[in-house]
Amino acid sequence: MNTTTTPKPQGLDIAGQITFAMRSMGLPPLPRNYAVFYEAYIGSNPALTRKLAALGSHATQADIDVIAEEFFGHNSNRIIENAHSRLVSELDGLVRLMKQEQSSLETYNKLLDETSLRINAKNTASVDLLRNAIQILTLATGDTLARGEKTAESFNQKSQEMEAVRRELDEYKRIANTDSLTRLANRRAFDEKLAGLFSFPTNLSKAALILIDVDHFKRINDTYGHPVGDKILATVASVIRANAPREAFVARAGGEEFAIILEGSIDEDIHTLCERIRVNLESTPFRNSRTGINYGPVTASIGYSSAAECEDSGELYSRSDIALYCAKNSGRNCTREFEAGMRKEFTKNWLLYK
Ligand code: GH3
Ligand code: MG
Ligand code: MG
Repeated sequence: MNTTTTPKPQGLDIAGQITFAMRSMGLPPLPRNYAVFYEAYIGSNPALTRKLAALGSHATQADIDVIAEEFFGHNSNRIIENAHSRLVSELDGLVRLMKQEQSSLETYNKLLDETSLRINAKNTASVDLLRNAIQILTLATGDTLARGEKTAESFNQKSQEMEAVRRELDEYKRIANTDSLTRLANRRAFDEKLAGLFSFPTNLSKAALILIDVDHFKRINDTYGHPVGDKILATVASVIRANAPREAFVARAGGEEFAIILEGSIDEDIHTLCERIRVNLESTPFRNSRTGINYGPVTASIGYSSAAECEDSGELYSRSDIALYCAKNSGRNCTREFEAGMRKEFTKNWLLYK
């Protein structure tokens, strides 16, 4: 993270480095501060990173709150999530109630019909009397049924309205989990998905994480400018998406880094898949049709690891990241699978490289 001039502590994981950076700037470890530093750390929001860096080595809580307000708004995601789950449970309750009401009325009507038939079948003196009583009751039931149907209808209408709100909230949720530049899942969704893999450890044998980092992207930005860099990132994302298996989860993990989470078996082996993505990207033209400038070739380095022997999502991410580092170290534009021996190659310099 380039937010402060404080030297980075060696050997800490992401959470440790973030906490260290917050403390170095004299800030309490509040969750809202963590969110700001986390965004800056993963680099998916260069404007936020710049604002945080501009605060220097000391910042006040008010400074951080201004940044949080500007980039995250009023905790809108959490509000939407809460509203979403409340609405879903209320809607389900309403529908259940409506079904119960309808079915109990139908049962009542059936019972009366059967009783009426039975009484009509007997030629006794009291039949007329009974028949009248039944007629009155049937009429009353008919009214009740009609009223019930009306209630059910308005319930139905209400549930349709609520369903529309639910769809809208689903859309908000999708937006909150989507990277606006590349339309892929964003880092938030990626972290959630990766952690979710480990909720069902039995499925881990076929799961894997692929990390893809664009080579010398800073050079592209420096040569052609940030807006061109953005367009190139969007194209890189579409090449990755188009070449990944349909069922794979593809995300922008931050900055110019992408990730693919595989959960089950795929038609080809993972190395072949990575190489297909890498070669397709390398051969994708990045030419501006108006000016004729050729921004390419754009290449990427790829590291991957199976989840089979990982304890948790942190270990899986770290293995793929080490493999990615080794791909960079091997000259870039290549794919490497994690091997235990790589840990040696993965020197202290890695933290500086990050
Ligand atoms: P390496 O081959 O080692 O990965 O080199 P690199 O230049 O790609 O890596 P480095 O991490 O030094 O630089 C990444 C650059 O990506 C720096 C940052 O400004 C840029 N970047 C991050 N997010 C965005 C973005 O959303 N748009 C643009 N245009 N650039 C971005
Ligand atoms: Mg890069
Ligand atoms: Mg990078």
